Amino acid sequence: MTELTAPRLNNLVAFHGHFCPGLATGVRVAEAALSALGTRAEDEELVAVVETSNCVVDAIQFLVGCTYGKGNLIHLDHGKNVFTIARRSDGKAVRIAVKPVTGRGLTSDQQALVARVRGGDATEKERQQFGVLWEARGRALLEMPQEDLLDVETLENYALPERAVIEPSESCDGCSVQVMASRLITLGRRRYCVTCQITHQLTCLAEHRVVPLYVTQIGVVENELMPADAPSSPGSARARSPRSRVVVHEAYRKGLEGLALGQMVDVLFYFSKAPAEAPLLQHPRGDRTVPKRGVFTLRSPHRPSPIGLTAVEILELVPDGLVVAGLDAWHGSPVLDIKPHKD
Ligand SMILES: [Zn+2]
Ligand SMILES: [Zn+2]
Repeated sequence: MTELTAPRLNNLVAFHGHFCPGLATGVRVAEAALSALGTRAEDEELVAVVETSNCVVDAIQFLVGCTYGKGNLIHLDHGKNVFTIARRSDGKAVRIAVKPVTGRGLTSDQQALVARVRGGDATEKERQQFGVLWEARGRALLEMPQEDLLDVETLENYALPERAVIEPSESCDGCSVQVMASRLITLGRRRYCVTCQITHQLTCLAEHRVVPLYVTQIGVVENELMPADAPSSPGSARARSPRSRVVVHEAYRKGLEGLALGQMVDVLFYFSKAPAEAPLLQHPRGDRTVPKRGVFTLRSPHRPSPIGLTAVEILELVPDGLVVAGLDAWHGSPVLDIKPHKD
């Protein structure tokens, strides 16, 4: 039976909104998890992977301390009554499945009552009867032996999901809403949230018969070149960094396998800090004494598709990417691709 104190149960009920069999089941799931894994997660010590969204999950959030906002509650929308709770320090986990309700079934009258309440056409008296019935079922679940209610399987070395990443938010160029940087979609000269990119594509197609193409940001440049120091006139030369770190997003790191020290690679990056205007005729290297030329004859960052391409030498292979020499991308530039350089 449960070891939850009455005040703590009251707080849980206040959090969830009502007492119900699902919440009672959640209490038992949470207790089974904590008895196997130790104390509640104050921060991200534990991670819960829940394969359904129901009342059980609120008890897990409240009692186990795995919450959606902290990023250590992961919902897989499988509709399965299975809850896996894992400990970060050593990968120990428990996979808890709720057993079928055999032996705890409702009479046909009770089933009819539940159907009327759920259908929204129960009388006040019926709703009261339902409340009494649900309370009793919940209480019974709190009291029954754990092995009658739950299948608890212990797992060693559970493949833990990555820790929640706190990343900066940036404005969508369409609606100005702050969006997680990695979720912005680059289309032509702008970066959009998922909804605005659809609108933008449809508008472009209708107005120009041009479909903006997707590119994927695979990483980001870290170096000492600040966009604020950059020359502002179109076409101006950009400094090269003696040492830039190309941090590749976790999801793409396997793709670096086989790159070698000293190898020359082409890094394609996005001129995310370039001003919006991209004149088709520009002074070479921003030098006003030289006549203007077409943008496609220049390496200017001010271009209709603001993509940079630089051949660089690999100085170091580091766990999160590469350290390279000679990159002329500013700090924070999104990296689009890396490929071996061909002379
Ligand atoms: Zn509930
Ligand atoms: Zn938007």
